[in-house]
Amino acid sequence: MKEECGIFGIYSSRGLGVAEEVYLGLSALQHRGQESCGIAVSNDGKFSFKREGGTVLDVFDEESLSELGNGQIAVGHVRYDPFGRGGRESAQPLVLKYAHGSLAVCNNGALTNRYELRAELERDAAIFQTDTDAELIAYIIARERIRSGSIETAMANAMDKLQGAYSVLIMSPHKLIAARDPLGIRPLSLGKIGGSWVVASETCAFDTIGAEFVRDIEPGEVIMLNHEGLHSIKAKKAAKSALCIFEYVYFSRPDSVLMGQSVHLARRLAGKILAQEHPIEADLVCGVPDSGIDAALGYAEESGIPYGIGLVKNEFIGRVFIQDTQQKRERLVSIKLNALSAAVKGKRIVLVDDSIVRGTTCTRIVGLLREAGAKEVHVRISSPPFVHPCFFGTDIKSKESLMANRLPHDGLCKALGADTLGYLSVAGIRSIAPQAQTGFCDACFTGEYPIEVPEEIPFDKYSHKIKVSGGKS
Ligand code: SF4
Repeated sequence: MKEECGIFGIYSSRGLGVAEEVYLGLSALQHRGQESCGIAVSNDGKFSFKREGGTVLDVFDEESLSELGNGQIAVGHVRYDPFGRGGRESAQPLVLKYAHGSLAVCNNGALTNRYELRAELERDAAIFQTDTDAELIAYIIARERIRSGSIETAMANAMDKLQGAYSVLIMSPHKLIAARDPLGIRPLSLGKIGGSWVVASETCAFDTIGAEFVRDIEPGEVIMLNHEGLHSIKAKKAAKSALCIFEYVYFSRPDSVLMGQSVHLARRLAGKILAQEHPIEADLVCGVPDSGIDAALGYAEESGIPYGIGLVKNEFIGRVFIQDTQQKRERLVSIKLNALSAAVKGKRIVLVDDSIVRGTTCTRIVGLLREAGAKEVHVRISSPPFVHPCFFGTDIKSKESLMANRLPHDGLCKALGADTLGYLSVAGIRSIAPQAQTGFCDACFTGEYPIEVPEEIPFDKYSHKIKVSGGKS
């Protein structure tokens, strides 16, 4: 399962090396998307930008960063496209010109009314270059800006039209604007470094550049940063916020803190609750790298069974290995992970992972442990069965692709090749983030979506193949 995107922005009164700061911030957010990335810089109101398919390390080097200039404002984006249109075509930030000048826009999330919005705008003769939500948002803001007088008010007004998940960064020639949807489905935090304001999808990006965390941007809040400082508009708040609970389970980095809750501690607590709900006699607890490790530590702490490394990860698998068929995906697991025979041979293993989505990874890992001599393998999952699709910016397109929908519990355990299988309960997952000052979305486990969603996700409706090149504007 994959997250769609990560965003990072900076407003610097001194304008020193903003592109480098965004580069470092995006590197820390790389786990949120590896298909494409981009950075746009405002140099005294003149925009320069580069966006390409590939990781931050692939796309940018010293020369390309210096070509972006030493501006005052910059925004950047890393992308994974759940619609399968990765690469350069839908890379962000999008840079557009309209009646009031230039805008650079990047977004994390997915609009649930994207097709209605687009159809409505196209009826008004709008022409789109991409099929991204970022372009739709930019178009709506540009229209609102003509009526409202400021870009931040235009963003606040645009919220009346946008439904679903969006954490957005907008760069105008002299302002940086950050906005989070009224439910706060995707995270967005505010930080400070010296005289500069920074905004990022996760706080781990602040640590990377030495910035201090200031606060989370609230659901429904629009923040404007310019030479006068920070101005906040509480634009549109829902009755209850709904941060994606899977951010704690899997998407975010363990060293991030979301809405007051450490991701690492949430995962550890999930493992503890899992041990209470599904105890088993065993010799060793192993976590599936990387996101299963913290929950495995929690399981070991609570159960008293020693924690150990049972799987070794190959860190050097690049994008070239992103595979699309079941057979290729199975092979990929063996290339990415190997079982440590010296640790698992003859032992009863508790294998802790964060989730089972299609089941490919878990089945292959159980097989690897058995081939390495494990006597028993007891699979423990630190989230409930994944049975509903996500409409908010991840790549779960249909119920049918979810293993927990295809098989009953016993059949699933057998298909995995496990001796026993235990999932964290819904009550359990709702308890993993006690410090978080927010409500949660847990719809992929419960079907209780925080807003009305379409009957299905029409993924391929717009699949334009438009070439976009970097440059100056
Ligand atoms: S449906 Fe699941 S993955 Fe999607 S936003 Fe809600 S909790 Fe997160």
